[in-house]
Amino acid sequence: MTSRAEDGERASWLEVDAAALRANVVELKSLLEAGCRLGVVLKADAYGHGLEQVLDALPDEAEVIYVITAADGLRARALSRSARDVLVIGAVGPREAVALARAGVEAVVGDEGWRGWVGPLREAGARLRVHVHIDSGLGREGWRPDAIGALAELRQASDALEVVGAMMHFADTEDVTHQDYALFQLRGFDEGVRALESALGVSGLTRHAAASAATLVLPESRLDVVRVGIALYGLWPSDKTRISATLHHRVLPELRPVLSWRVVAQHVKELPAGAFVGYGCTHRCRDRTRVAVLPVGYFDGYPRAVSGRAHVLVEGRRCPVLGRVMMNHLIVDVTGVPVEGDRPLLATLIGRDGEEEVTADQLAEWAGTISYEIVARLGGHLPRRRIDAGRGSAC
Ligand SMILES: *Cc1c(COP(=O)(O)O)cnc(C)c1O
Repeated sequence: MTSRAEDGERASWLEVDAAALRANVVELKSLLEAGCRLGVVLKADAYGHGLEQVLDALPDEAEVIYVITAADGLRARALSRSARDVLVIGAVGPREAVALARAGVEAVVGDEGWRGWVGPLREAGARLRVHVHIDSGLGREGWRPDAIGALAELRQASDALEVVGAMMHFADTEDVTHQDYALFQLRGFDEGVRALESALGVSGLTRHAAASAATLVLPESRLDVVRVGIALYGLWPSDKTRISATLHHRVLPELRPVLSWRVVAQHVKELPAGAFVGYGCTHRCRDRTRVAVLPVGYFDGYPRAVSGRAHVLVEGRRCPVLGRVMMNHLIVDVTGVPVEGDRPLLATLIGRDGEEEVTADQLAEWAGTISYEIVARLGGHLPRRRIDAGRGSAC
């Protein structure tokens, strides 16, 4: 497995652990009350994990799929083996609306774009199932509860648009341990749903509000379906969420990171004491140092902001990243790593190797960001390989 890259082969790849993904789905499903469905968010190429690889590994307990774009909605519909609902939560164009209706994918009325859908849907003789986005305090898509009356116009379009649900999105569940603002938003949502149902003369709309953090710590937010993103991939939304969850659950839910990022060293060599490493000469070797040049950099999604702070794992050992992260290269200190013949070194940038682990959270902390950004920005060109390792075993 640890071999040098052949012609045209990438020396760096992502591993998507199907066993960990399945375990997370089962764990998350076990938190939900009977009758509440588990929806999973596969936007941004499944948070960088690969839409195809994640769908392939997704067990049936994940009953609803959420994506942002119509193109991803159609792909998810085509690739999903079970008969799940697929819902596009982002902006949709008129031709896309027709394609979604024909494919049986649902969309969200979250802006004025829906007006442009009605004509093409009528012409096509298609009817699109839609959810209305209620803005209960994020300030992003949707209608504020007191402005829902304007959506009475949807009634005249009921031949083209069938309103089946209502959604909202929380603004401040991850960064707090007190959920006052979330509860305020839930009350606004409730008001909005009642206004919507009376404007449309319908009842029993499917209601969904909770993303990962609310699902984990705010039972009253779970409603009819939850929309779990980051937790599906085995990452906690934040430390605050983890702390809150320890108070809410007798046993802290176990989330297993799904993703690992590996790279085979391109070059290993000795540098003398006093040698400089990398752009800006920000690192100088105090002693004779064995370095490995890794053919990945910020182009691939390894953040430049971690320069001078990060380590990677090589043969189960922590190896500091020396100097600055470059566009296509990282230089790491492998002095402490035993070399066996000319076997190429395998480095782990995210994931486990032996007893050691570098998490996406750790990388995010070094970079001054959140794990969401780290995984979502992993290069689309990196191969995603499905593995089925489960806990413990690395590669
Ligand atoms: C991204 C997103 C989610 C998932 O959020 P996580 O914190 O990753 O669980 C849910 N709902 C909406 C509308 C989103 O945009």
